[in-house]
Amino acid sequence: MDELHAALARSLEGAVLTRDQLTVDHEQNYGRLFQWTPRFVVQPASQKDIVALVAFCRTHTLHLTTRGCAHSQSQLAISRGGVLVDLQSMNRIGALDEDSLTVDVEPGVIWRDLVHRLATRGLVPPVLTNNLGVTVGGTLSMAGIGVASFRYGSQGDNVVELDVVTGSGTTATCSPERTTISSGAHSPAWGRWASSRARGCGFGA
Ligand SMILES: Cc1cc2nc3c(=O)[nH]c(=O)nc-3n(C[C@H](O)[C@H](O)[C@H](O)COP(=O)(O)OP(=O)(O)OC[C@H]3O[C@@H](n4cnc5c(N)ncnc54)[C@H](O)[C@@H]3O)c2cc1C
Repeated sequence: MDELHAALARSLEGAVLTRDQLTVDHEQNYGRLFQWTPRFVVQPASQKDIVALVAFCRTHTLHLTTRGCAHSQSQLAISRGGVLVDLQSMNRIGALDEDSLTVDVEPGVIWRDLVHRLATRGLVPPVLTNNLGVTVGGTLSMAGIGVASFRYGSQGDNVVELDVVTGSGTTATCSPERTTISSGAHSPAWGRWASSRARGCGFGA
């Protein structure tokens, strides 16, 4: 048994997969240009897990790579010997506020599932990309540009609040008006983050 695996598994609520438990899907993305094997695939259960994971990776000098549905090319959403965080395990759709037209979602929610949920209330997100089989966290990280963007901007433009875990292990809640840093002693490393919750607005009827 890999001692690092045992220590990591102990520190998280979610699952930690080792090399022998991986499929070829974990080693590739949509582009199929690279086949990289991560040391571990982590399926976090919550933001708390992501915070613990960032701390663990910093302590043990492990590279950490985030992944939604891996509808990316080149070296995105795959990991060579590091920790691949499979955020599809965080796929809860939370409360829908029909007055403010906002909904809480975790980063691994697939857009198609969100569209189905909102359709039951006669609502739809203002901007959808051409592929609904990808995650909210993935498109917010990349672009989130769709045919309606000429009118409503990117999907990111329609987020009213975002909970993030930074590369230094800090958590923060960000909105266009303010950023509240909740924990951690270091200043945030904004280049790398994993969203744990997004609240999108402006759903059209
Ligand atoms: C053929 C093709 C067509 C595309 N068309 C569009 C389009 O119309 N509009 C558009 O906006 N994009 C488009 N893209 C880009 C891309 O597919 C998506 O924007 C996005 O990557 C899909 O989400 P995903 O869940 O597959 O993310 P992934 O591919 O898994 O991840 C994308 C990137 O975001 C990071 N990431 C994933 N989740 C998180 C998270 N929760 N927190 C932090 N980082 C995270 C990953 O590390 C990676 O760098 C296209 C790509 C291809 C190959």
